[in-house]
Amino acid sequence: MDAKEKVLRCIQAKDGELTELCSKLIQIPSTTPAYGGNTSDIARFIKNYLEERGAQVETNEFDPHTISLRSSIRGTSSSPRLILYGHMDAVPVGEESRWSFPPFSGEVREGSILGRGAMDMKGGLASVITTYLAIQESNVQFEGTLTLAIAPDEEKWVPVEGGLGTQWWLLKTGTLEGDACIMAEPSGLRTIWVGEKGEYWIKVTATGTPAHATMPILGDNAIDKMMKALDAIRNISDEGVTPPQELTETVESSKAMLAESMAEQGFRGEPEIACKMLDHVVVNVGEIQGGTMTNIVPDKCIAKLTLVLPMGLHPEEAKTRVDDLLKKTGLSGVTFERFSGEMAGSPTFTQPSEKIVTVVKENAREILNTAPRTEIAIGPGDGNVYRRMGVPTINYGPTGTGVHSYDESVKVKDLIAAAKIYGGATVDFLRAN
Ligand SMILES: [Zn+2]
Repeated sequence: MDAKEKVLRCIQAKDGELTELCSKLIQIPSTTPAYGGNTSDIARFIKNYLEERGAQVETNEFDPHTISLRSSIRGTSSSPRLILYGHMDAVPVGEESRWSFPPFSGEVREGSILGRGAMDMKGGLASVITTYLAIQESNVQFEGTLTLAIAPDEEKWVPVEGGLGTQWWLLKTGTLEGDACIMAEPSGLRTIWVGEKGEYWIKVTATGTPAHATMPILGDNAIDKMMKALDAIRNISDEGVTPPQELTETVESSKAMLAESMAEQGFRGEPEIACKMLDHVVVNVGEIQGGTMTNIVPDKCIAKLTLVLPMGLHPEEAKTRVDDLLKKTGLSGVTFERFSGEMAGSPTFTQPSEKIVTVVKENAREILNTAPRTEIAIGPGDGNVYRRMGVPTINYGPTGTGVHSYDESVKVKDLIAAAKIYGGATVDFLRAN
């Protein structure tokens, strides 16, 4: 029996255990620490789960609620190094009354496992854990190192030193090393996300002159100016962005999938509007404050915006575009500054020709009889951190419904298929025999 066959058989034998693990992970609440949650219980559970099965686990405690886990199996040489990644935190439940089942149920119903974090990404996490244990148990010889990395703060980075989260710190200090990474984020098994957009957060300040509300012509209304400034900044979405040449095909194929998934999520507009999100800036005005009293012309207004940057647009260029748009308005007393971290800014991608992409594609083809397409993820995540730290990274994992919303679930059959694809890709990447 060759190495891949051994590993795949071992994973298949763990089918029931894998579903059970996913249910169990959902039943342990693990809201992201930055949203007031705690990941220490789930970290303890996973550590025990791995240790009971013979793995050695190292932990880094960033604060009592934020503990990351790592485990490695060393092969016959120092390279290549592959990381299998999952995050154990999940976004808050929101209004519990809007769920049709208990948010931490973990119940298996009609081919899905139910509960907060099922899709994002306790399903994928259970799959990478299972693959990792199968590689260990099947005792195959391989080159390099296989590392399982489990993050506690993907949904919102905890302010570890530079503010960019636990994974950034681990990579920056050399505590975690890799030549490639598979993140089990919920791309769906038909899709490999090779790139993630960037995020550029700006704070816009409008200042004016106060006056009595009965004589506004004696003042200079900061809120009026802000409204004009925001209208102008929104125009940044009109101008297209040309993606890097090696991504042209990937961006185009992402459009079709995006239109489909937006329709599934209830978007009823023209598909072209959804597709624009892939090569145009997306603008969200998230916060606004201004004025002191109804009968005073306001002298100050502040707005905070997220500009989501598509492939090929870097923060410096976005800044220039915002500058130009504001200049055109002729408004005085309106300024803006960036307030997101450097690492959070740029979109990043892994070349579709990278080995990690091709081995996952080939193994997916073997398991699913159809090769996944490479696409761009619609939102940024830890993939940006890994790529910025020089690790070619893809997101590929089980999907379901209700991500970051109500009634979240993940498909049971995706879990075992994903685990097998990770297993086959690991064998190929680490040249196991
Ligand atoms: Zn996620």
